[in-house]
Amino acid sequence: MEFDTIAAISTPMGEGAIAIVRLSGDNAIAIADKMFKGVGEKRLKGVASHTIHYGQMIDPKTNEIAEEVMVSVMKAPKTFTKEDVVEINCHGGIASVNRVLQLLLSNGARLAEPGEFTKRAFLNGRIDLSQAEAVMDLIRAKTDRAMNVALGQMEGRLSKLITKLRQEILGTLAHVEVNIDYPEYDDVEEMTHQLLLEKGTYVKEEIETLLRTSHQGKILREGLSTVIVGRPNVGKSSLLNSLVQENKAIVTDIPGTTRDVIEEYVNVRGVPLRLLDTAGIRETEDIVERIGVERSRQVLKEADLILLVLNYSDALTEEDENLFQAVEGMDVIVIVNKTDLPQQIDMNRVHELSQKHKLVSTSLLEDKGVDELEEAIASLFFEGSIEARDMTYVSNSRHIALLNQALNAMEDALMAVEIGTPIDIVQIDYTRTWELLGEIIGDSVHESLIDQLFSQFCLGK
Ligand code: GDP
Ligand code: ZN
Repeated sequence: MEFDTIAAISTPMGEGAIAIVRLSGDNAIAIADKMFKGVGEKRLKGVASHTIHYGQMIDPKTNEIAEEVMVSVMKAPKTFTKEDVVEINCHGGIASVNRVLQLLLSNGARLAEPGEFTKRAFLNGRIDLSQAEAVMDLIRAKTDRAMNVALGQMEGRLSKLITKLRQEILGTLAHVEVNIDYPEYDDVEEMTHQLLLEKGTYVKEEIETLLRTSHQGKILREGLSTVIVGRPNVGKSSLLNSLVQENKAIVTDIPGTTRDVIEEYVNVRGVPLRLLDTAGIRETEDIVERIGVERSRQVLKEADLILLVLNYSDALTEEDENLFQAVEGMDVIVIVNKTDLPQQIDMNRVHELSQKHKLVSTSLLEDKGVDELEEAIASLFFEGSIEARDMTYVSNSRHIALLNQALNAMEDALMAVEIGTPIDIVQIDYTRTWELLGEIIGDSVHESLIDQLFSQFCLGK
C-alpha cells in the first residue's frame, strides 16, 4: 500500500529533556535528509537501517541551523508501521520541538491525525485490529490499571485467545468432516455428536469467561459511574471536592445549591471513577431544583456505584430512609459524615439499613475517613477478582458486541446438536461463531472455510 508521509510529536508536550518527532512513510528519509546536516556531509539516505546519527537540523530555505538533533533511521518493513520511519530526537522544550515539526511539515510531511501511526501499522498488516484498538485505548487510558489492560491487549493476549478458540472450532469441523468421509468406527453419528458437544461447550465457556471480564474492562476504560446522593447539606459536594481535591463543585451552607449534576473524573487507587454529585433526591416544589432531582433519578439508575451520604449530627429522616430504598440492590457505600459534630443520628438504625452495604464514617471538614472510603471503593471493585494485571480483559465495546454474538451462535449450535439437527446445519452455526470471532481480530479474509480446513488438515487420499 502507498501512503503519504506523516509526522507528529510522539512524546508528551513539555515533559522530559528529550522529545521525539516521528516521521513515517515512503519519503520519511528523504524529507529528513533535506534538512539534516551531519558530521562530514553524511547523508541519511545512504545509512544502514536502525542506526542513529548526530547532527543539526537546518532550514533548507535559509540554511539556518534550527536544532541540534539525534536522528534514528529505520527502514521498512521492520518498523512499527512497516514503513520507513525516522525519529528525530531533540531538546524537550515546546518551542524546539515545534520548530522541528514545522520544518518537516513545510518540507513535504503531513501532520499525522491522532492514532494514524497505529492505523498505518494495521493497514500495512503489522498488527491486527484488536491490537490497533488497544493502542488507541492506551492513548486514552486513564489509569495504570486501564493502561495494563490496553498493554496486554496490544501484546496480543486477546488475539491469541481468540485465535486459539477459532482453531478449536476449525479443528472440530475438520474432525467431523473426516468422521463423515472416512468412517472408521461403527457409530460415527454418536462420535460426531459427542465431539461437537464437547468442543462447542469448551468454546462457549471460554467466551463466557471473556465476557465476564468485560464489565470490569469497560469500567477501567470509561470509569466507574459513581453517584453521590444524600439530603441537602449532608456534605455531598464536600465529598466530591475531597475526592477530586480541587474546588470545582460549589460548596455552600445553603441547602440545595447543587442544582444540576456535576461530573468529575478521579483515580481512586487504580479505579477510575466518574463522579456525579446530584441535587438531593427528594420531592420539592422548586422548579429549578426539580430538574436536578429528575435528572438525579435517571443518573441513579445508570450508576455502577452509589455513595450515600448521611449527616451524623442530624436525626435520620424519612428522606434518608427513602434513599436506602431507592438504591436497593445496587453497589452502595454508606458514608456517615460530620462526625466532628455532636451525634444526633441513630447508628443502630444506620447499621440496620446498611446491612448489605459498606459503611464508612467521615469528617470531611477535618479530612478524616477519606482513606477508609477510598479503600472501600477499591476493595469493592477488585473484590473476588484475580489481580487485575494478569487477566485478559475485554474492554472494547466492539469486541464485547462480537463476543456476545459469537456466544449466541455457539449456543444455537449446541442446541442444534442436542436436538439432533443434521450435521451440515450444525456446521453453519459453528462456522458463524468462527467468523464472528474472526471479526474481533480483523480477519475479514473471506476465504472459504473448506480451503482453510484443507490447509490445516491433510485429508489426503
Ligand atoms: P451538600 O449540599 O450535600 O452538597 O453539602 P455541602 O458539601 O455543600 O456541605 C454543606 C455544609 O456542610 C458546608 O458548609 C460544608 O462545609 C459542611 N460540611 C461538610 N462536611 C462536613 C463535616 O464533616 N463536618 C462539618 N462540621 N461540616 C461539614
Ligand atoms: Zn452540594
